[in-house]
Amino acid sequence: MSDPLPQGATIGILGGGQLGRMLAMAAAKFGYRTMVLDPAADSPAAQVANEFVHAAYDNTPALRKLSERCDVITYEFENVPVATVASLSEQLPVFPPPEALESAQDRLAEKIFLNSAGISTAPFMSVDNDDDLARGLARFSGGVLKTRRMGYDGKGQRVFRSADTTAHEGAFSQMGGVPLILEALVPFRREVSIIAARAADGSIAVYDPAENEHRDGVLYRSAVPANIETKTRTAVDQAATDILTSLHYVGVLGVEFFVLDSGKVLVNEIAPRVHNSGHWTEAACTVSQFEQHIRAVAGLPLGDTNRHSDCVMENLIGDEVLRAPDLLAEPDLMLHLYGKTDIRPGRKMGHFTRLTGN
Ligand code: AMP
Repeated sequence: MSDPLPQGATIGILGGGQLGRMLAMAAAKFGYRTMVLDPAADSPAAQVANEFVHAAYDNTPALRKLSERCDVITYEFENVPVATVASLSEQLPVFPPPEALESAQDRLAEKIFLNSAGISTAPFMSVDNDDDLARGLARFSGGVLKTRRMGYDGKGQRVFRSADTTAHEGAFSQMGGVPLILEALVPFRREVSIIAARAADGSIAVYDPAENEHRDGVLYRSAVPANIETKTRTAVDQAATDILTSLHYVGVLGVEFFVLDSGKVLVNEIAPRVHNSGHWTEAACTVSQFEQHIRAVAGLPLGDTNRHSDCVMENLIGDEVLRAPDLLAEPDLMLHLYGKTDIRPGRKMGHFTRLTGN
């Protein structure tokens, strides 16, 4: 795309969750309209988008409507069918490119891609039956067994702490009999992630890495700056840059890493979209990850990624959202609620970022 999208142009967003909501809000800031497609009726993004298409991701009339009415398409959810994104990309620009989505949807393809781009991951092997699993557990002395597809927030995972010869029996069918991957258990010192963006002209901008704490496989908090050495920071930046370049990527990408005692990093996974561990950019940077993504897909110049403050972002999960009035009384705190009225355990209801000085 050579010319930037003019004001009044429409950005189509596949997926109507909180990420889509925050993208739609960022798009509105530049005078763009948004059309959101989501199979769920009252999705958080539908509440703020100009238009909402309530349909399945493979609904042909819905996709035709998007391709006729939008100027560019993006997505906020990595499990949108690749076929949907590929067919839309035949009619209009789709960013990030479908190849990025394809790699990110399958943990095996993702690791093969990363290793081929010279980026280290945990050792892994594909598991298609209990015998594969027994071999893998013996080879890695335990490991983390994950579904190759549709896993997120620690869902579809099982940890084996040793090469116990019986603990794994039946595990393949217990995980649904679907293709699996076994990863060696990484003795990481900390987990960090980085949000990086690439524009169509090849320019790249990276934010400071965040240090992440998970609870029950779900992101609980992200602190910036991460407590890492300069050489680790350089490795993280380089890996993100290499991934963006190899994929001819356009848009914002999240990359999660394990940091080892040696300071070396292994990529855990990539997310071809704005990412929960980048929500802090909304409060501590002039240009948030959401605005950055809109800039990239609209053909505008990438924005400044400088951080003006240290900060800690925390998710409000389930009834933690009831803390909202108390949080609002705090200075130097930005609260963001997602418009989800139905409070359920484990559901991400909002987040806040506390600025902690600099
Ligand atoms: P994932 O859904 O792959 O991001 O995994 C969720 C969380 O499980 C990660 O953030 C880690 O805390 C943990 N985890 C995942 N894979 C491994 C691994 N290979 N070794 C150790 N911990 C892991």
